[in-house]
Amino acid sequence: MLREAETEAEERYSRQIRFAPIGAQGQRRLGEASVLVVGAGALGASLAQHMVRAGVGRLRLVDRDYVELSNLHRQTLYDEEDAEAALPKAVAAAAKLRRVNGRARIEAFVADVDRRNAESLAADVDLVLDGTDNAATRLLLSDACFSRGIPLVYGGVAGSGGMTALLVPGDHCCLRCLLGEEAPGGEDGPTCDTLGVISPAVEMVAALQAAEALKALTGNRTALRGTWLTVDAWHFSVKEWQLPTPVERCPYCGWGELPVAVRREPAEHGGFVRLSVNGGRAKERDEAKAAFLGDAAEGAGADTLLGGGLREATPENASIANSPRITTENALLGDEREAAKLVVLCGRDTFQVALKPSVSLAEWRRRLVAAGCAITADNRYLLRASTAADERIVIFAEGRALIQGAGESERAMDIYRHYLSDETRREADEPSVGF
Ligand SMILES: [Zn+2]
Repeated sequence: MLREAETEAEERYSRQIRFAPIGAQGQRRLGEASVLVVGAGALGASLAQHMVRAGVGRLRLVDRDYVELSNLHRQTLYDEEDAEAALPKAVAAAAKLRRVNGRARIEAFVADVDRRNAESLAADVDLVLDGTDNAATRLLLSDACFSRGIPLVYGGVAGSGGMTALLVPGDHCCLRCLLGEEAPGGEDGPTCDTLGVISPAVEMVAALQAAEALKALTGNRTALRGTWLTVDAWHFSVKEWQLPTPVERCPYCGWGELPVAVRREPAEHGGFVRLSVNGGRAKERDEAKAAFLGDAAEGAGADTLLGGGLREATPENASIANSPRITTENALLGDEREAAKLVVLCGRDTFQVALKPSVSLAEWRRRLVAAGCAITADNRYLLRASTAADERIVIFAEGRALIQGAGESERAMDIYRHYLSDETRREADEPSVGF
């Protein structure tokens, strides 16, 4: 059986093995590697495909969105059937990727990456690939990567161009220091929303990200570019700058003034394995180290359940567990018992809001129908409904909703209050009142 697998691998990867910098040894390293791809939109889907086709042993993929017709011009892993079925991107991507390479271990998570789950998602991987569409998530990834010593391949696309860099903790500064706290792609920066986007730009950036990832994962550390660059596919240009070194006072990339920094240091020849702990007092360092190793051990053994309440979306496990919300950052709206935060998503007229995860999709279906909505998609992972004014509500099993077509945030908030808040439940539970 083992022999058979080896023969198949030799054949499958023969052209890649023939490429001298990778060779048989690099190919083996890819097979042992684990990567996290965050976002399964245009960049993320392309990155995931590159990794799985190249023979990376384990791919963890996380995305908060579902496939729509407007994605298909640039998100090359998806097709009309996926859009018709309104499948979550992580689920649709995982199904395709398993067909591409049945030997790869694919872990799919339908979730929004936040400060808590970012740590557990990145806990036991060798490399993180950024396929997100917003600055806030990127900075969270940078924090998680730099506090754990994991290389991060940053990438962003808008219009006909994009930016990319491989940031190695210990060698380079973090994304916060590179882009500044007011990162481009933030509220005022250029996004797919304002500039649109074309697929060749996506593929150029994804190709550059994937190339650096392959170098890092196969132990070709001296071949790493060490630069950040911008590229434009339409008005052809490539600009490249040397990546800055760690910033002394930064708590993430420098040794910082903060209490304790724990990181895995780059090993001499490929790999990123040595653990070092700096700053703070000896006792704090010991505690931090123990917590770090404890986390890592826990993460390694967690097949389907990660820290932060994340549950893998396998074909057998459709009920995706709760993604915890960051309640301290929630804005209190109206009734102070009811905290809700609307987040604007890139690319289209979409707001996201956290819901009570304890309510099942079947129960949501009942409430929305009772409230006069038409159900337009219903699968194991999500429910989509149209309001009388033709706005769309998409509810994910993990306890999260997207409100689409509302235009202004005030209208989105009205929709939330009317259809999704606790008030809705009370009305639906007691149909005799007011019906
Ligand atoms: Zn920094």
